[in-house]
Parts: sequence; C-alpha cells; structure tokens
Amino acid sequence: MKKEKISAKNTQPGRLPNFGVLDVIVGPMFSGKSEELMKRLRRFKIAGLKVMVFNHALDKRYATNKIASHSKQKWQAVSVQKPEEILKKIKKNMDVVIIDEVQFFSKTIIPVINQLITKNIHVVVAGADTDFRGDPFSSVPNLLALADGEVVKLKAVCTVCKKWNATRSQRLLANGQPAPRQDSLIKIGAGDCYQARCRKHHIVIS
Ligand code: ADP
Ligand code: MG
Repeated sequence: MKKEKISAKNTQPGRLPNFGVLDVIVGPMFSGKSEELMKRLRRFKIAGLKVMVFNHALDKRYATNKIASHSKQKWQAVSVQKPEEILKKIKKNMDVVIIDEVQFFSKTIIPVINQLITKNIHVVVAGADTDFRGDPFSSVPNLLALADGEVVKLKAVCTVCKKWNATRSQRLLANGQPAPRQDSLIKIGAGDCYQARCRKHHIVIS
C-alpha cells in the first residue's frame, strides 16, 4: 500500500507529527459493544470533537445507515461494504472515527485504520472477537494486537446458566438446536438465531 502523506493537520514546523490511537471493544453478541460505542460517542460530542461513525452494510438488523444496540439505542452512521470506502467517505478534519461490526470487514480494514491513525484520528472499533464456532473472528485478533489505546473485552449474560460470563455467540437453527460447524461463517441475525453463552454452555455440532 502507498505510504500515506502526512496531512497539514498532523504536522507543525519543527515538531514530530501527532498520531491518533486505536481502541478496540470486543465480546460476544449482546455483550454491549454497540452500547459502549454510543456511550463514548456521546462523550466525544460533549467534548466538541468531530466524530464520524461507520457500520458494515451487512448489518441491517435494526436500521440502515445507523448503528443500533439490541436495547434499541440508535445513532446515525455511514454504511460501507469495503474498508477503502471509509477513506473515500470520511469528511475533512475528523477527530474521531468509530467503526461497528468490524469483524465483517475484509483484511484491508487494517491498513485503512493505520491510515486514519497517521492522520491523527482517534479510531474506536467494536466487533465480535469469536465467531459462532468459538474461533478468532477475521481481523479482530490482529486489531487487538495493534491496539495502542484501550482494549475492552465485554461479557454478556449466559442464557443457560444466567451468569455474567458469556464470551461466546451461540448460533441456533430454526428448530432451536445448535448450528453445525460447517454452517457458513456469516449469518446476520439477533435473538432469532443467536444467544450469548459461556464456554461451558457453548455448543458447536461437529
Ligand atoms: P452487542 O453490540 O455486543 O451485540 P448491544 O450493545 O447491541 O450488544 O446490546 C446490549 C444489550 O443487549 C444489553 O444492554 C441488553 O439490553 C441486551 N441483551 C439481550 N440479551 C442479553 C444477554 N444475554 N446478556 C446481556 N445483555 C443482553
Ligand atoms: Mg452491536
């Protein structure tokens, strides 16, 4: 990838350039990642910062062109399919970029985020760290490694044992049975086909 030119916003004569940082919020479905993004968004707005929010176009569960939580909070967002669209659609002089459902983006989300950080933008991403099989999910493990700001790992309430220890997203078939391992990696849904579960109660049929 072409080396990013450092923008005027990022440089002052005789001084080293300023960089943004990367915060990463992870956890299974229903763990409150989108709520956490919206909490931070409100704080950034109170601080008078210019914030832009992106979501993956696949996530149309509660709204399009919005990020939304399972508790029905919503915030305006730009829906994109490819990571490079973030660079095309970003408005000038943004201080903060928030990206929800980051696990749905292809691997080029990493150089795109690096470019934003080089432009002195604070990037906050949220996504599922494990897929329905319990395996690390797409670029999220790399993003966790690259984070130089905050790393937040959230848990949900396990729907079986009712403890606040759920780290996995249980995919269920229409008949309520656990989905088999060979099911496709991506299936958009919420309470209709997913539950939050702890390690003990997370089942993948082999
Ligand atoms: P995520 O973005 O991680 O999927 P959200 O922020 O959209 O999570 O939603 C979190 C909300 O989901 C909680 O505040 C709660 O109202 C609801 N919820 C539904 N099921 C659960 C569960 N099993 N554990 C925790 N919260 C749940
Ligand atoms: Mg969410």
